Amino acid sequence: MIKEYQLCVLPEQAASEQAIRQAISLEKGIAPGDITAIRLLRRSIDARQRTVIIDLNVRVYLHEAPTEDEYQPVDYKNVEGKPQVIIVGAGPGGLFAALRLIELGLRPVVVERGKNIHERKKDLALISREHRINPESNYCFGEGGAGACSDGKLYTRSKKRGNVDKILSVLCQHGAPTHILSDAHPHIGTDKLPRVIEHMRNTIIACGGEVHFGTRMDALIIRNKKVEGIKTATGQTLNGPVILATGHSARDVYRWLADHRIAIEAKGIAVGVRLEHPVELIDQIQYHNKNGRGLYLPAAEYSFVTQVEGRGVYSFCMCPGGCIVPAASAPGQLVVNGMSPSNRGTRWSNAGMVVQVRPGDIAADHPLAMMDFQEELEKTCWQQGGMTQTAPAQRMFDFVRRKQSADLPRSSYSPGIISSPLHEWMPKNITKHLTEALKQFGKDNLGFLTNQAVIIGVETRTSAPLRIPRDPETLQHITLKGLFPCGEGAGYAGGIASAAIDGERCAEAVAQSLVRRAGRKETRSTGKKEKQSADGKETPSAGGKEARE
Ligand SMILES: Cc1cc2nc3c(=O)[nH]c(=O)nc-3n(C[C@H](O)[C@H](O)[C@H](O)COP(=O)(O)OP(=O)(O)OC[C@H]3O[C@@H](n4cnc5c(N)ncnc54)[C@H](O)[C@@H]3O)c2cc1C
Repeated sequence: MIKEYQLCVLPEQAASEQAIRQAISLEKGIAPGDITAIRLLRRSIDARQRTVIIDLNVRVYLHEAPTEDEYQPVDYKNVEGKPQVIIVGAGPGGLFAALRLIELGLRPVVVERGKNIHERKKDLALISREHRINPESNYCFGEGGAGACSDGKLYTRSKKRGNVDKILSVLCQHGAPTHILSDAHPHIGTDKLPRVIEHMRNTIIACGGEVHFGTRMDALIIRNKKVEGIKTATGQTLNGPVILATGHSARDVYRWLADHRIAIEAKGIAVGVRLEHPVELIDQIQYHNKNGRGLYLPAAEYSFVTQVEGRGVYSFCMCPGGCIVPAASAPGQLVVNGMSPSNRGTRWSNAGMVVQVRPGDIAADHPLAMMDFQEELEKTCWQQGGMTQTAPAQRMFDFVRRKQSADLPRSSYSPGIISSPLHEWMPKNITKHLTEALKQFGKDNLGFLTNQAVIIGVETRTSAPLRIPRDPETLQHITLKGLFPCGEGAGYAGGIASAAIDGERCAEAVAQSLVRRAGRKETRSTGKKEKQSADGKETPSAGGKEARE
């Protein structure tokens, strides 16, 4: 017999399967010997009260063993010789699109401007050591995309549980730890992601797909309002429908689209800073315990949101036990972001603290206006940091009091930080809204607003600064057939899981478009035969126009 139970246990009980079995026996009146196995379906931390509780949803097997797998692995078939689809960008959007295409019997050809994940790591080290940014290989560009060197948090606001579960299963199939299937806030960790990404690439290649590194798309090939392929910086021409999954930092791609008068539209973003506290301080606040998290709880998370003068101000991409990283994608910029290893074991906890910025806030009103705003701020930040990757920083309380810090606490940001009056050079409204919000967060969470915490500038790449509009049904660009804007860069995702889901959707849309095209060809050839048999000579069918395109 199989039963499912909800349990509330203490952290030390949740840490051991034996203790969970005991809790089930006691609470549900089941003899311990009757339980053959248990499987965790959901695990979340409830830290609202003084005593922190772990909520579990457990499947209990009584007198029988589990027969079903923890997840349903996908059977990837060989797609050599099948119609090819070009995918630009090997981030989560592009990689999941490629795997889904294989499932659907199509052959993905992935082009990625950056290096494979292992080579890429060397360029990341150079940023910290020598403050050198390789514009083709950095925290945003390279195998795995921005997601590869990310925190690997996999939460999404997507309400379609099935879609999220599929993404988590595919990740597990490629080596991600299976606890992500049950954790309410699944997290893989920077140290474990590269292996998973490498396995995904191996699946694509083993099934007959292609992955080309160091291959930047420089142009789309467009004929009669239809995208027929791409041209690369390496001089290749690749033909096929194109899934454009280039992420939010490919500004050259956005500029190319604008220069070629392809419809794009500015969209709102959120801009601010990274805020870093000592990990114990956040643990004490969030777990309501001056002794911190103890042995059985993970580094604590927080998620704060408020409105200041009708503007959303919120924490973003919180990384407990993590570090702040230099995430610029070209020289002359300074951008920060955060990540954490699987054990979330560093001495710091950081989060973006950002303010909504709307296209109407910017004086210029062209599609690239928000991107230009982002870029300008990143340039200013770089200048304020001394024209290296050393980041301008200010103690948190000093920022709120509008005072330059006399000294700075130690930080996880490895290129180093330098004291700077962020309140003076950041855009006035952002500073004002951030200040009010930080005061509010400090009032609601005693100890949060402190000079032990440091604010580091600037966090600008929270989402794409524009949208590449697409037809909601066919997912093709609104004016260009054969182009499938995908993932975060196109404005349809805001994280790893949502980009992956969008990648799968785009792959399905390409497959449908090819089926429709095949159907039209079929109709045309049947129509032609019918005409021929009727009047004995060849007459262009209704599909003739389509065929000429
Ligand atoms: C440090 C950091 C930490 C993050 N942490 C998290 C997290 O914990 N959880 C989360 O959900 N999200 C996180 N994010 C955001 C997440 O990484 C992105 O939302 C996600 O990667 C977007 O996926 P994507 O495939 O749409 O684009 P990207 O991941 O940006 O991938 C785009 C790819 O396209 C390539 N490319 C660009 N232009 C071209 C071209 N012309 N030709 C060929 N290739 C090109 C790029 O090199 C890149 O590899 C983090 C981001 C960063 C930078």
